Amino acid sequence: MENELDSDVIVVGGGPGGSTVSTLVAMQGHRVLLLEKEAFPRYQIGESLLPSTVHGICALLGVTNDLREANFMPKRGGTFRWGRSPEPWTFSFSVSDTFSGPTSLAYQVERMKFDQILLDNARKHGVDVREQCSAVDVLTNGNRVGGVRYRDAEGVVREVSSRFVVDASGNGSRIQDRVGGTRHYPDFFRNLALFGYFTGGKRLPPPNSGNILCAAFDGGWFWYIPLTAELTSVGAVLRPETLKTAVQADREQALTDLIQQCPLIADHLSNATRVTSGPYGDIRIRKDYSYCRDVFHRPGMVLVGDAACFIDPVFSSGVHLATYSGLLAARSINTVLAGRLDERTCFEEYEFRYRREYSVFHDFLLAFYDMHQDENSYFWTAKKVTSNTASDLESFVELVGGGASQERGLVRAGSYQDRREQFREFADLIDEPQNTTNDRELFQSSLVELVLEEGAKLQMQAAAGEVLYEEAVRPGGLTPSPDGLHWTRLG
Ligand code: FAD
Repeated sequence: MENELDSDVIVVGGGPGGSTVSTLVAMQGHRVLLLEKEAFPRYQIGESLLPSTVHGICALLGVTNDLREANFMPKRGGTFRWGRSPEPWTFSFSVSDTFSGPTSLAYQVERMKFDQILLDNARKHGVDVREQCSAVDVLTNGNRVGGVRYRDAEGVVREVSSRFVVDASGNGSRIQDRVGGTRHYPDFFRNLALFGYFTGGKRLPPPNSGNILCAAFDGGWFWYIPLTAELTSVGAVLRPETLKTAVQADREQALTDLIQQCPLIADHLSNATRVTSGPYGDIRIRKDYSYCRDVFHRPGMVLVGDAACFIDPVFSSGVHLATYSGLLAARSINTVLAGRLDERTCFEEYEFRYRREYSVFHDFLLAFYDMHQDENSYFWTAKKVTSNTASDLESFVELVGGGASQERGLVRAGSYQDRREQFREFADLIDEPQNTTNDRELFQSSLVELVLEEGAKLQMQAAAGEVLYEEAVRPGGLTPSPDGLHWTRLG
């Protein structure tokens, strides 16, 4: 056993949640150690992103250019064969003012590449990232967590102390129960997923060719996510009783049989070939993935992303919840380390906001699984669960785009300072050669337009000496500071 020098914060897990919180804390000059069990790039499911992640958190992290250069598939919205309507229906994020112009486009990503971009960015911001280091337990001092015991790449067990430990080690976390309480698995969402990858699958007609396609059938539903022009992620989400019989045979056969039970997916895959080698070569199963802990923090420790909760993948909310909670946790830790507010107040705000976002998806999904309704009824439910004053359709799009909280950092692409940087960064695009796809051209030209508009607003605000604070979301609650990286108590 070897002991190491202190850090301000230890983050366990280098997925989107861990990279987000560690970067946003390191940006404030704090010492952050990130322990990641695997050697990156590593496979992960969760490939369909929301506008709030791409234009909110990722802008705040400063990876907008990296994402653009990775040439991920632009995603305008979703196409669903779902509910009473026999025909597929489509929504676009652009119908909502919240995701106006370029911020209405998200991405479909290969997680090996996306997660690598975020982890490299954490390193770039000074985070001490150590791969192949697996957290074994937390260190405690009375009721307070004060460090981590981990096994390094050589198998040596080490102990390192810190003021805060963030568990962002995902649904398989070994330490999430150290905050106390219990993980609850709602019976309603006890589904299982069986998934693999195909080349040569069909695409929806333009302009929706990058959309996620979700198709319900008797045994459950399929996702069909175009990752590149060639590669498609295909998964069946099944009720436990369906999967039991299907998978007892053979995974390959089970997936083939299920595809044949869903005509829309069978048609899309009619000329496709399953990938059988490399990281996409396995047919994988995930189960027991919807849950929520009844406690998210204790003194010195907080859970971020899947370590705290996850809800059904139909609206691709996982990376949004992970990165949003990473932002909320970073705000809390930055505020305490700066000596501005006490830890309990900050973590309570963290938990309140994270639970609220989770609950919006949870409550909406309960109604969305009622297949006897049509899409208009689903849109109406979205308005009801978010208490939105916009139209039913806009309320739905705001919710499934990750904008229900209306946090400015999520829906207006980052902090004021970040907007300034974007203004500079994207003004350059005007002179850049255009990319090949129409989607990308649209993305760039309207992005420039938006940034110019936002740049003008910033200049006016600066001239007037005006700083706009957001409202607290509950009586006596905290509000984000203008840079988005701390909490403030108004009044
Ligand atoms: P993770 O991405 O799981 O990252 C955790 C990291 O911690 C990993 O790199 C892991 O190696 C590391 N780790 C684990 N244990 C330790 C340890 N002891 N020490 C150190 N490191 C450790 N989300 C979407 O947004 N869109 C989708 O389309 C989508 N589809 C999904 C489909 C299915 C079937 C499922 C189950 C989930 C889906 N998700 C989707 C959810 C998404 O996968 C997760 O919500 C997201 O990856 C959570 O990010 P995270 O950072 O919390 O955890």
